[in-house]
Amino acid sequence: MKRLSAAILVLLLLFAFGCKAEVMHSAVDFVCDTVVTVNAYAPQETVDDAIRLMRDYERVLSKTVEGSDVWKLNHANGQPTEVNPETAELLRLSVEIASRSGGAFDVTVAPLSALWDFNAETPVLPDPDDLADAAKRVDYRNIAIDGNTVTLKNGAEIDLGGVAKGYIADRVAAFLRERGVRSACINMGGNILVFGGKPNGAKWSIGVRDPNGTAADSEEVLSLSDGAVVTSGSYERGFDLDGVRYHHILDPKTGMPVQNGLASVTILCENSATADALSTACFVLGPTASGKLLAAYGANAIFLCSDGTRIAVP
Ligand code: ADP
Ligand code: MG
Repeated sequence: MKRLSAAILVLLLLFAFGCKAEVMHSAVDFVCDTVVTVNAYAPQETVDDAIRLMRDYERVLSKTVEGSDVWKLNHANGQPTEVNPETAELLRLSVEIASRSGGAFDVTVAPLSALWDFNAETPVLPDPDDLADAAKRVDYRNIAIDGNTVTLKNGAEIDLGGVAKGYIADRVAAFLRERGVRSACINMGGNILVFGGKPNGAKWSIGVRDPNGTAADSEEVLSLSDGAVVTSGSYERGFDLDGVRYHHILDPKTGMPVQNGLASVTILCENSATADALSTACFVLGPTASGKLLAAYGANAIFLCSDGTRIAVP
């Protein structure tokens, strides 16, 4: 009898400690111009450190933060510039996806994106001549990377807005794993990365936003233990003028917002930097032309059209 009670006590203690380790902590903040959330089965301190890490990366990868790697490159007048290894790594991935997408995704869109102010109170369309001039400087082949030294040639400038949030989510996941966290969900404004499922064996639920609804309306809900789900939408940043939607995903050849009937593209893929770049690339390419690119990265996509059509690739 005594032995049985002792065994029950041990079991109860184990259960109590197990539960303690399985409490989820969360933090919400505003980083990289978007609302970010970390939910992790980890101490609050670790979750707060994850948010701090997002800020550290923002200071390195933001185009507007003075002294960031991107800022230094864009102000280097074409001179070779030493950057952080992470920046070099992200640029290598960006150039690879630019090349594989035939330039549909191109981080040298900076001179074009600079001509648009999607937050303006009274939005205006950029001058067509300015767009044409800026488009001449857009070409990912102007990015030369040698180790951690980067050179922007022929007046190129970079904007990592289409890939940085995804990359940061990957780095935050790596940080949490290093801290021994086995289960977390990182959300950087629609760039979602999960790992480890929930401790009770359940998967994480990730809503794909209904492009015609509010941020709280889901078109469908995906269940995932590990991986990235990243959405690019025309509802994200943009304005309506004379019945036309002008938004932040630009055709690098013209500098105009892509108008191909798509409302959003959601990518499912192992790695969230790749998923982020692919979401932008596939938005520009459209469902038919995206097949090969998606296959190259083992990724899946859900294209939602403005008319309500849903196309899954593959
Ligand atoms: P979000 O920022 O809403 O997550 P995206 O990942 O689709 O959306 O990235 C859009 C951002 O990427 C734009 O705000 C701009 O900074 C940049 N961008 C726009 N068009 C392109 C493009 N064709 N290729 C690469 N980056 C782009
Ligand atoms: Mg993207």
